[in-house]
Amino acid sequence: NADAAMALAKASGRNNFQFYTAAMNGAIRDKLALREGLRHAVARGEFHLVYQPQVAMTSGQVTGVEALIRWQHPERGLVSPTEFIPLAEETGLIVPIGEWVLRTACFQNRAWQDAGLPAFNVAVNVSARQFRERTWIEQVDRALDDSGLDPRFLELELTESLIMEDLEKALLSMRTLQAMGVQLSIDDFGTGYSSLSALKRFPISRLKIDQGFVRGIPGDEEDKAIAKAIISLGHELDLKVIAEGVETLQQLAFLRANGCDEIQGYLFSPPVTPAECATLVNARFAVAQGD
Ligand code: C2E
Ligand code: MG
Ligand code: MG
Ligand code: MG
Repeated sequence: NADAAMALAKASGRNNFQFYTAAMNGAIRDKLALREGLRHAVARGEFHLVYQPQVAMTSGQVTGVEALIRWQHPERGLVSPTEFIPLAEETGLIVPIGEWVLRTACFQNRAWQDAGLPAFNVAVNVSARQFRERTWIEQVDRALDDSGLDPRFLELELTESLIMEDLEKALLSMRTLQAMGVQLSIDDFGTGYSSLSALKRFPISRLKIDQGFVRGIPGDEEDKAIAKAIISLGHELDLKVIAEGVETLQQLAFLRANGCDEIQGYLFSPPVTPAECATLVNARFAVAQGD
């Protein structure tokens, strides 16, 4: 907090004051520069997508991939989406960036199918700001039309908070997307604040158990109870349940024993390039012991 830092700096003398303001100015300049860079990143072709396989618990086969954005910054190197997505949301730049992601993912999935790979879903993360755009549905429709991807192979990952921001309006958009044949899922499930009575109205096909709960398996009794409860809840509501952030065989065994439908995580594969992804989808992952 700037005021507190200044008060502290003043109290401890002039040199410190300069030190604190210099550090603060540096941080602010940094953020401004990053924001400025973000403005041109799409046009300069600095973004690319990586894809992380989602594996069916029963067959070990890849049923889908999640598209995750990467920014190759000319000076800084790879910048994490956890750093620049919030900036993109603040500035509204998430709208053109998000449309680029959506279109790239649709074209990529269609290209995989044209290359003769078995068909699977591509999941795209959607920001609240994007979802609220007046032209959002048109953007999805155009991405599907232009790429020629069958809508059932596109999945949009929404968050509880995005939906609960304006439940009735979100439900309208979700129903439109569902009618178009697009699949919807809830990302980071269990961390938001949607009520069960709202959840039952969501026209979705999948819940993604947040990786925070998966991380606690098998040591944390609460996390295990929550993961188990999400799986039962999902199944009662006729939804598929996928766990993200699965890193260990113990986590896999627990999720398998509790009927989780799909697995995504470093245990099977980190997010990879389209070419690497094409080889992974032909593989069969060892989901059961003795496989
Ligand atoms: P998310 O959608 O929940 O994506 C899952 C994140 O977990 C990804 O981080 C992924 O690389 C990471 N991950 C996957 N498996 C494991 C694992 O086994 N262990 C651990 N520790 N992590 C794992 P990433 O790619 O850094 O993305 C972070 C977040 O940034 C995403 O969380 C999503 O909220 C956002 N994001 C990424 N790409 C996009 C995008 O194209 N659009 C929007 N709006 N948001 C995006
Ligand atoms: Mg996601
Ligand atoms: Mg997530
Ligand atoms: Mg997320």
